[in-house]
Amino acid sequence: MEIIRTYVPNSLANYNHLVYCPTTQQAAAIDPFDANHIVDIAKKHSLTIIQIWLTHEHGDHIRGLNSLRELTGAKSFAPMTCNGLFESDIWLEDGQEVRLGKETLTHYLTPGHTPGHGVFLYQDPQLSERDFLVCADTLFNAGVGNTRSGNVSELYQTVDRLKSLLRPQTRLFPGHDYICTNLKFVLNHFPDCEPARTTLDTVDKQTPDTRSVMRLADEYRYNPFLSLQADWIENHDDFTHLTQKERFFELRSRRDQW
Ligand SMILES: [Zn+2]
Repeated sequence: MEIIRTYVPNSLANYNHLVYCPTTQQAAAIDPFDANHIVDIAKKHSLTIIQIWLTHEHGDHIRGLNSLRELTGAKSFAPMTCNGLFESDIWLEDGQEVRLGKETLTHYLTPGHTPGHGVFLYQDPQLSERDFLVCADTLFNAGVGNTRSGNVSELYQTVDRLKSLLRPQTRLFPGHDYICTNLKFVLNHFPDCEPARTTLDTVDKQTPDTRSVMRLADEYRYNPFLSLQADWIENHDDFTHLTQKERFFELRSRRDQW
């Protein structure tokens, strides 16, 4: 299974993705923001969109759903916990396999950012470097999704579960280009986090289109929500006495106010 990331210029800095089977060139468009944009990208790569995968109900993730269905005739797949929030052909359970061409990946329910959120995980049978997670608004580079329409306790459980499901080399494909802002937040609160500084130096010079794709192992070095026991959190006066879960809550609350 292969994945293409494309930046959709708009004030929310969305990324859209095409996941495809290299044997059949059949593709799934994820969270289409602009139907014409994603159809153009598919054409450029000689791909046929036969499926649409949705992660959650927020407007910027389903904006292009109906027009893309009309344009392509593709069937839509969405987390069963989103049933009733928008239209979809197929509702996916936790751990359900999704077949695309000759390849298969797995859908997981990941409540937290919203109660209904889901993600798509590909794990290559031969090479873990080829693994990827389409995480939408659950996990971001150097951060996690907000919980304004969700639940921070559920998000903590979800992130904890993802840490046990994913292999370290898994490439992460979040739904937004937030890495620079998130790293600045990390450095503002944890100036001792050297990996956040060196990573920001690199990604700040890139554009949303050229931004580095990060692996879970990279994120462990600077994402406080993943590394709740890192030295730079452990040694911070406000965090040292807190449990891991309390640290997660405190981080989310500070990021909301930042
Ligand atoms: Zn969202």
